[in-house]
Amino acid sequence: MRKTLVAGNWKMHGSRQQTAELIGGLAEALGDDPANEVAVCPPFVYLLDAARAVEGTPIRLGAQNLAVEESGAYTGEVAGSMLRDVGCYYVIVGHSERRSLYGETDELVAEKYRAAQRDGLVPILCVGESLEERESGVTSEVVERQLRAVLTAAGIDSFAAAVVAYEPVWAIGTGRTASPEQAQEVHALIRGILASESATIANSIRILYGGSVKASNAGDLFSMPDVDGGLVGGASLEAEGFAEICRAGG
Ligand code: PEP
Repeated sequence: MRKTLVAGNWKMHGSRQQTAELIGGLAEALGDDPANEVAVCPPFVYLLDAARAVEGTPIRLGAQNLAVEESGAYTGEVAGSMLRDVGCYYVIVGHSERRSLYGETDELVAEKYRAAQRDGLVPILCVGESLEERESGVTSEVVERQLRAVLTAAGIDSFAAAVVAYEPVWAIGTGRTASPEQAQEVHALIRGILASESATIANSIRILYGGSVKASNAGDLFSMPDVDGGLVGGASLEAEGFAEICRAGG
């Protein structure tokens, strides 16, 4: 039985005060023993504040990115070991904003995924097609290519300690959500690709949906058989609404 996971990607939003208020409000709304697993991924500079705020709550901490390298002369980079050091459990890799705005290739994403696991973090690997790719009918090919780059670099066993997030780019921050059926179709494809290498790992891995998830659509999305929760951007910035999403499907 896969436990639903809802992770909030704050992107480049917030302040120290908002970090404390948001996590405080979320913890209060969730209570001590939420049915679903919940994580928040604040910007790097607020991770330490966030780590203090989640202490004694069931909320897990994640980061939004990491360096491939372990340490050294890499100005501006943040190593996975540093993220662990400040209390991170998860790290997002391959988010479409990093792929499209910062030129992260499938190969670099695979390296970051490996670096995350090397440094003791659980990667949340994002895959997903653009609007143009969906409209030209190549969604499956794109998602499979992105997934296979990581499978080739890290092997199927690595997916025992990873989460995959299907995030159609056309649904991220646009208010346009994939229908539960559209999400299910791609989630089933992802699980099928993993199952062709290991049925056990495919059955146990969580595959999250991301793209304009909100309280009003989370229940329908999370109730699909291969949708095991959500990666939530905009709607994770408001405690009550995010808590409602965190309760969906639980
Ligand atoms: C995201 O950034 O991962 C995301 C899904 O954003 P939003 O929920 O705002 O579409």
